[in-house]
Amino acid sequence: MHLPPIKRVLLKLSGEVLMGGQQFGIDPAFVAELAKEVKAAKDTGLEICLVIGGGNIFRGMAGAAQGMDRAQADYMGMLATVMNALAMQNALEQLGVDTRVQSAIQMDQVCEPVIRRRAERHLEKGRVVIFAAGVGSPYFTTDSGAALRAAEMKCDALLKGTSVDGVYDSDPKRNPDAKRFDTVTYDKVLADNLRVMDASAVALCRDNQIPILVFSIREKGNLARVLAGKGVQTIVQDN
Ligand code: UDP
Repeated sequence: MHLPPIKRVLLKLSGEVLMGGQQFGIDPAFVAELAKEVKAAKDTGLEICLVIGGGNIFRGMAGAAQGMDRAQADYMGMLATVMNALAMQNALEQLGVDTRVQSAIQMDQVCEPVIRRRAERHLEKGRVVIFAAGVGSPYFTTDSGAALRAAEMKCDALLKGTSVDGVYDSDPKRNPDAKRFDTVTYDKVLADNLRVMDASAVALCRDNQIPILVFSIREKGNLARVLAGKGVQTIVQDN
């Protein structure tokens, strides 16, 4: 398996990486570190779209498990992703990286709505575009939002930056013998229910032939290494 040339990427960060060492919420110092990683990748000439989850603040499923209406809880989760997007925008702009946030839930006072052509223009001008609020509908996740934006923005790859360094055949936090895949097909991920992203996101990437690179964003310099083909990662694509 080899990757096509990568010019434009969608970087998906789970909300939990914004917590840094905390148990909850946003650690501004760690967000600043993440922003440095994004800047380093951008400085290599890449066009970057970002999608950030909201799990560090609120997950709809967790609210539903405690008796909330699922859709209502999901809207709260989407609002959490907007807070994370604003935190990342702040950190990037403090490094001098021009950034625009586009939200799938309209919020005119704080960010733009999602407008594909406008996002295209931002990327052409060298701005990072952060897509917030997932797909804008309950019962979805930001993984699906990431796959959707990667497809519509014609990204060459979806990079999933998380706390683990790739895709394993079982949970590496529970099973010390878990084996990491260097490469794996979309169909195997779906058939074996491997924990990469949710199934709808993986299927959308498969149908649009967008490779998914799963890697740890917690290691300094790893994003740039992965983009240079030198990092530890798992690539999900067809043979
Ligand atoms: N969410 C949603 N629709 C979307 C994206 C997100 O309803 O299109 C809600 C959902 O409740 C989810 C929460 O926002 O639990 C936070 O997103 P996610 O769980 O994807 O964040 P991550 O796990 O990546 O931090």
